[in-house]
Amino acid sequence: MRTPIIAGNWKLNCNPTETIAFVEAVKDKLPLNSKVESVIAAPAVDLQSLLDSAKGSQLKTAAQNAHFEDAGAYTGETSPKVLKEMGIDYVIIGHSERREYFHETDEDINKKAHAIFKNNLKPIICCGETLATREAGEETKWVVGQIKAALAGLSAKQVANTVIAYEPIWAIGTGKTASSEQAQEMCHAIREAVKDLYNEEAAGAVRIQYGGSVKPGNVKELMAKKDIDGGLVGGASLDPESFLALVNYQD
Ligand code: PGA
Repeated sequence: MRTPIIAGNWKLNCNPTETIAFVEAVKDKLPLNSKVESVIAAPAVDLQSLLDSAKGSQLKTAAQNAHFEDAGAYTGETSPKVLKEMGIDYVIIGHSERREYFHETDEDINKKAHAIFKNNLKPIICCGETLATREAGEETKWVVGQIKAALAGLSAKQVANTVIAYEPIWAIGTGKTASSEQAQEMCHAIREAVKDLYNEEAAGAVRIQYGGSVKPGNVKELMAKKDIDGGLVGGASLDPESFLALVNYQD
């Protein structure tokens, strides 16, 4: 049985004071972690405030990125080793905004996945196609290619502990959600790819989120799909009431 996981991706929004106010507003109303995992991925400068205010609650924490080295001459980067020492649970890697604006490659993302597991953190690995790729009918090949590259060299056990977020780029921040059928179809293709690359057990355990304009009004329909185990949510995760509606979608 895969535990559903709803993660808010705040992107470059919120300061430490706003982070604390958000956590105060949600922390006593979250579902049990065994029922639905609730995660907030805050900007790096807010993570200590997020951790301090979420302490003792059901809220899990995530960074939005990490470097693939633990330390060294990498000005401006975030160490996965330090994220672990701080008490962070997850790290998002390969978000389409990082691929597009910061030129991250499949190879970088694979190195980051290894660094995250080396430090006993868990990755949320993003993948997704552009509208042009979908219109060319190449979306499955593209997304499966991204996943193969991101997972290269990981063990079946590590893959079983991975979260994959399928986020079609044309649905991010556009208000245009993929239909639940489109989302299910791709999440199924990703699970099949994991089965081909690894085994049935890893494919059955890997959790796959859909992301792209997920909101309280469509979360239930998406979560009802067989291969969709969660959501990676941008805009609709910034408001406490909306985040609570998302994580409590079963009620
Ligand atoms: P959105 O963003 O929910 O605002 O579309 C999703 C994401 O980029 O993770």
